[in-house]
Amino acid sequence: MVDVQWWLSAYDNRVHAFGNEEAGRDFGEALCEHCVPNNKISCTDDGERCLACLLIFGDLLADTLGEANWRAS
Ligand SMILES: [Zn+2]
Repeated sequence: MVDVQWWLSAYDNRVHAFGNEEAGRDFGEALCEHCVPNNKISCTDDGERCLACLLIFGDLLADTLGEANWRAS
């Protein structure tokens, strides 16, 4: 399972995919390595999504689903 949150960064006004393992830090790091202090992150996915995050997320998803399919068959 690819566990990310799509949140809006006030730095570039793009919605990035942030991993949940970053919780507890005072900044978030998106899949595309865009780093944002927590107070610049809005917990909304209402906006234009970061293309790099979308592509990386798609790859992760394909890997995860691919593995699950192999195990099931
Ligand atoms: Zn991004």
